[in-house]
Amino acid sequence: MPPEDTTPLVVTGRTRLAGIIGDPIAHTRSPAMHNAAFRALGLDWMYVPFHVRPEGLQAAVRGLAALGVAGFNVTVPHKETIVPLLDALAPEAEAIGAVNTVVIADGRLTGHNTDGIGFSKALHEAHRFKAERSRALILGAGGSARAVCDQLAREGVPAIRICNRTDAKAEALAEHIRAHHPACDVKALPWTPLDHRAAINWAELIVNCTKVGLDPQDPSPIDTNGISPGHIIVDLIYEPRETEFLRRCTALRARTLNGLGMLLHQGAAGFALWTGREAPIDVMRRALDAA
Ligand code: NAP
Repeated sequence: MPPEDTTPLVVTGRTRLAGIIGDPIAHTRSPAMHNAAFRALGLDWMYVPFHVRPEGLQAAVRGLAALGVAGFNVTVPHKETIVPLLDALAPEAEAIGAVNTVVIADGRLTGHNTDGIGFSKALHEAHRFKAERSRALILGAGGSARAVCDQLAREGVPAIRICNRTDAKAEALAEHIRAHHPACDVKALPWTPLDHRAAINWAELIVNCTKVGLDPQDPSPIDTNGISPGHIIVDLIYEPRETEFLRRCTALRARTLNGLGMLLHQGAAGFALWTGREAPIDVMRRALDAA
C-alpha cells in the first residue's frame, strides 16, 4: 500500500470548497475523511466545518450558495428544517423527508440523502444480508430511522416493525413508509419490554437508531434477552465504537456492526456527488479510523 501524502493542504485561487453545517459541530469527523480523499486524488478542494445555529440556517444556506461553495453536508438539527430552503430534492431525499448532502450547481441547491445508501453499503460489506429474507426491527423514529426504513423497504425487506419511546412518532413513520412502499408490511409497536421481546424473536435484523448509547454510561436501549447468533444487529452510533447494546449482542454471539461504516459510505456517496469522482474508500476509512 503506498504511503499517504502528509504534505499540508495548500489553498489556491482555484480551491473549491465543501463543508458541513450542524449544531454542535466540533465532534465531526467528516473533515478528516474528505480532506484525506481530496488529497489522495490530487484535487484542489477543501472541506470545512461550519457551526450553524437554527436561527442562522437560512442566512448560512444563502451565503454558502453566494460564495460558490460546491456543496455541503447537513447534520443535526438541520436535516429536516433545511428542506424548504432548497430548490430541488433528489427522489430519496423526498421519500425520506430529510437531507444530509446538498449539491450547489449554477446557484441551485439540490438536497440528497446518502444515509440510507451508506447504511446499506456498510451492512452488505460487513455481513451476508439477504434483504428479501430479513424482517427488520427498528428502534427509534428520528431522522436516521426514516433513512434506514426507506432503504430497507427499497431493497425488498418484507416487513418492518418500528419501536420508539414516543409512540406517536413510530406510528407516523410507519404510515409514511407504508405510503411510499406499499409492498412492505410496516407497523409500529409500543415501547414496552414485552413488545421488544416479541419483536426480537420475530426479527432477523435489529437496528438501533436511537441516541441511547452516545454516552458511554448509557444502558442498552432494550433488554437483549432473545438475541441469538441468527441476528444481525446494527447500532448507528460510532462513538463510542461499542455501545452497551452492541457489547451485549456480541457477547450473545450475534453478528454486530457499529455506525462507522455508515458514516464512511454516506460520505463517499456525497464525495462522488460533489466531485464527479469515485471516492477513495480505503483512504477515507483510514482517515476516519485515525480521527
Ligand atoms: P433524532 O432524529 O434526534 O432521533 C433520536 C431518536 O432517539 C428518537 O427516536 C428518540 O425517541 C430516541 N431517543 C432519544 N433518547 C431516548 C431514550 N432515552 N430512550 C429511548 N429512545 C430515545 O436523531 P437521529 O439523527 O435519528 O440519530 C440517531 C442516532 O443515530 C444518533 O446516535 C446518531 O449519532 C446516529 N447516526 C449515525 C449516523 C452514521 O452515519 N453512523 C448517521 C445518522 C445518525 P423520541 O422520538 O421518543 O424522542
